Amino acid sequence: MLARLDSPSDRPSATSRMEAQGSPFGARRYNAWNDHVRRRHGGRVQKVSVAAGFTCPNRDGALGTGGCIFCNNAGFTPGYLDRRDGIHAQIDTGLGFLDRRYPGTRHFIAYFQSYSNTYGEFARLRACYEEALSHPRISGLAIGTRPDCLPDTVLDYLAELAASHIIELEIGIESCDDAVLQRVNRGHDFACGVDAIERAAARGLGVTAHLILGLPGETRESMLDGAARLSALPLRALKLHQLQLVRGTAMARDWQRDPASVPLLDEEAYIELLADFVERLSPDILLQRLGSEVPPALKLAPQWNMRLSELAPRLSAELARRGSWQGARFVTPAG
Ligand code: SF4
Repeated sequence: MLARLDSPSDRPSATSRMEAQGSPFGARRYNAWNDHVRRRHGGRVQKVSVAAGFTCPNRDGALGTGGCIFCNNAGFTPGYLDRRDGIHAQIDTGLGFLDRRYPGTRHFIAYFQSYSNTYGEFARLRACYEEALSHPRISGLAIGTRPDCLPDTVLDYLAELAASHIIELEIGIESCDDAVLQRVNRGHDFACGVDAIERAAARGLGVTAHLILGLPGETRESMLDGAARLSALPLRALKLHQLQLVRGTAMARDWQRDPASVPLLDEEAYIELLADFVERLSPDILLQRLGSEVPPALKLAPQWNMRLSELAPRLSAELARRGSWQGARFVTPAG
């Protein structure tokens, strides 16, 4: 079942429409990660996925065994990755694809994406990161993890690496609403995310938060409130994802039993929500992703006609239609 959000978005006033001529982000109308990366590194920085065989406390029994109800790591692990290969061999395989797809790219960083990539013995983590960094064509690391898997020892070490490498830390927040986090069996609350982001940022690490828009239990208000709550944190960037049902997940099974229990957004509703969210987000937070695409064989729903590549221009067009931009409705926290 595809749902529309209950309440319509409120529109900017005539005055703010006039001010939009001076959108600080030009025609894009939002603070785009790719623009920032090109300015900072003189070109594209391309992630090369690697799988180091880590697990996560929500799967290995430390917190639970079922995992988050939306999670099937096959949904975001490139098909060519075989973790039985060493990290260098995986990087070489990835570079084989990426050199053809993005010729002339100067910077590649190893992307530890699947599962929780700071969960494990510190010595093992360090060995994996350093193996990736020893590859002659790798300039840094992107590390995806949960907020409850970031002890100070690991953050101190990543901060040390960041002095001489590109280090991107991606923390899965997923929702800013504790009731939603509980419903999706996340195993941590929003305060845990705040704590991890603050401790990482205090060490000078650039933090990207990962958020899913449309999890069951969210309302338009809870998600827009999330934009304000995230804006108050020392985040460098945000990755936004629409809720997709991936085969083999508990959430997909719930939806198959009772579609009303997991309302899904159609593409129009998602663009509208995205624009509402971005208007309320601090203009300082870079948008690294606006959505994602699970491989067709694994995706159960929603089936959109819109391709991922159309999302960015559609968001810009919606913001332009409103005469708005990222942060147009952002309220600076008091104090
Ligand atoms: S989404 Fe991440 S934290 Fe949740 S079960 Fe999957 S790997 Fe673990």
